[in-house]
Amino acid sequence: MTILLPTSTAGSLPKPSWLAEPETLWSPWKLAGNDLLKGKQNALLAALQDQQEANITIVSDGEQTRQHFVTTFIEHLEGVNFEKRKTVKIRDRYDASVPSVIGPVSRKKPIFVEDAKFLRQQTTQAIKWALPGPLTMIDTLYDEFYQSRKELAWEFAKILNQEAKDLEAAGVDIIQFDEPAFNVFFDEVNDWGIACLERAIEGLKCETAVHICYGYGIKANTDWKQSLGGEWRQYEAIFPKLRESNIDIISLECHNSHVPLELLELIRGKKVMVGAIDVASTAIETPQEVAATLRNALQYVDSDKLYPCTNCGMAPLPSALANAKLAALSAGAEIVRKELETR
Ligand SMILES: [Zn+2]
Repeated sequence: MTILLPTSTAGSLPKPSWLAEPETLWSPWKLAGNDLLKGKQNALLAALQDQQEANITIVSDGEQTRQHFVTTFIEHLEGVNFEKRKTVKIRDRYDASVPSVIGPVSRKKPIFVEDAKFLRQQTTQAIKWALPGPLTMIDTLYDEFYQSRKELAWEFAKILNQEAKDLEAAGVDIIQFDEPAFNVFFDEVNDWGIACLERAIEGLKCETAVHICYGYGIKANTDWKQSLGGEWRQYEAIFPKLRESNIDIISLECHNSHVPLELLELIRGKKVMVGAIDVASTAIETPQEVAATLRNALQYVDSDKLYPCTNCGMAPLPSALANAKLAALSAGAEIVRKELETR
């Protein structure tokens, strides 16, 4: 990346109201058949345009073709039955009715590769593609087949590796794995979660990232955040091992969160996507606020390794608000870029 402080988003962006119910997760599609296919492509184009208008450096599909960042991937796999549902606690936090793993899991065919090729055709900018991480995937399922979280995660890692290689061949520059579960199951992360991630990126030549946040701005998450106390030190438990891993970039929640930024010292040397936009608040950050978060992070992240980003996906936000936040991210990064250039 030649530009200093390249900006990007954590992943999802709001969907247009003609495609799906806005400001809702798992919102059903409003179109079907060919109309839905065309609608998803138009939404992807609009999401790209929104990012370009906001001068975002590394663009994405805004996850316009998926209903949910984990479920949509799993829907395309063999071995998972979506009719056979069980209620489980997701991330130790909230009950959800989830599908069951009933046999060996496998990928019949590429899942997002056509979407990625379509995005690649539209722009020469660097593109980032998000996939769910293995630990987060197993945490949204009831497993009656393997009956081992570790074993199922490993199988998913192998499948993710196939998909990641196809995405790389389609021209994706950065492949990101979303692992909000890394903030909850520290022992599993250290015992085998990071090993699964490394299995998922095995043999890739493109850059790789892991996104570890405190979740979307939905009630179950904001309530959980209330219980975490004044200082959030969750990252501390997993950073030492992540620093030793082959993952290139670590994407984190930094703005308005109670994460002490000095924890970033523990991953010194890694590239860091610094979340400078709060996705759980409807207040629009000022460029100065964004700049302040970035300057703060620069104490622990070398300037050539700092990637300004959003704390998490923005799917649950109104679209005009999300666009205003993107513009603030861009303007804030530009302030700090100028400061660094004149140093
Ligand atoms: Zn997130």
